[in-house]
Amino acid sequence: MNIKEIQAKSLLRKYKKIDSWFISRYGMNPYRGCLHNCAYCDGRDAKYNVEGDFGKEVSVKTNAVQLLEKELSPKGKRKPLKKAYILPGGGVGDLYQPVEEKYRLGKKILQIIYKYNFPLHILTKSVLVERDIKLIKEINKKTRAIVSSSFSSVNEDISKVFEPGVPLPVRRLEMLNTFKQNGVAIGMFLLPVIPFITDEFEYIDNAFRSAKDVGADFVLYGGMTLKPGIQKDYFLNVIKKNYPSKLQDFKKIYEADNQYGQANWNYYKKIESLFIKAAKKYQLPTRIPLKYFGNILCINDLLVVIFEHIDHYLKQKGEKTNYGYAAYQVSLLKEPITELKEKLTSIEGINQTHINAINEIIDTGTCKLYEDLLSNNLSSK
Ligand code: SF4
Repeated sequence: MNIKEIQAKSLLRKYKKIDSWFISRYGMNPYRGCLHNCAYCDGRDAKYNVEGDFGKEVSVKTNAVQLLEKELSPKGKRKPLKKAYILPGGGVGDLYQPVEEKYRLGKKILQIIYKYNFPLHILTKSVLVERDIKLIKEINKKTRAIVSSSFSSVNEDISKVFEPGVPLPVRRLEMLNTFKQNGVAIGMFLLPVIPFITDEFEYIDNAFRSAKDVGADFVLYGGMTLKPGIQKDYFLNVIKKNYPSKLQDFKKIYEADNQYGQANWNYYKKIESLFIKAAKKYQLPTRIPLKYFGNILCINDLLVVIFEHIDHYLKQKGEKTNYGYAAYQVSLLKEPITELKEKLTSIEGINQTHINAINEIIDTGTCKLYEDLLSNNLSSK
């Protein structure tokens, strides 16, 4: 392992729009690069500019804690930061990867998050997070915490090939269960499901069943993207070595070298039905439930998240939806929507049905359509 210590100019990444998958507005990467070295990791992609040999080298932002202290403190800020989950780690480096044992930046970052009263959502493939359980429980009591882990499946042999640097799925599930037993919400990110390897119903079903068994509050799922260049080349080499007969299949569905690395649309449509079937079977929501964010977000962010969740559940039912676009339009508003009640009809993309839902959400914190879709998502029929 090769570690490089660096001084960063800033740490907190602020999103323009709330992310309705993680209910997050803020991310950060105190570590750049990830020794977990997952074969599909898109942190390898050139656009992230991670220096060095990904999977073997890591840059450590040694001033991360001082930076975050300044960035979260309300001192010297005209407007306080909006409340939403902070998601430390992710994209280009797991917060609890092996270097955390030495540098302990994660623990210090959690202490600052606690101090400044932000909710916390951790997504990690490491069980080192158990070290900080006491602190995470304190954050959960004060402002709320969620601990999630991502899986390509819960199959051990497959995990050894694609996630060589992390504990086996059974151990990660045990870690999630420990948090659940301690009153912290937990989630599974079944992401990415690997085409031709973990995308059969048997694997998806096993993953949902395992999530249910450990008490997961939600399972979010998604297919794999392979961005052209380093990420795609690295992944295909792993396939060539371990599953040579499947190489051509991958080349076919990732044929069009689009910049986002998506597989062809028909493929995603095919696997979507498997996820929906499993979610219904185990009655697990496929978005983070409202009870974990309803009383945290400002009204505009709450509307954006609920509308995006509505959009997701309508798509699951095979229905056309314009709620995603309406959510985007709400996200652009500078004023709280409660001050624009008379002008809602003039907002592009907002129709009378949306307005009714907006008013219902302002008054009650939810709306009938959302609740109906959730029960449909959870109904086994
Ligand atoms: S744990 Fe996450 S960030 Fe680290 S290599 Fe795996 S996918 Fe990438």
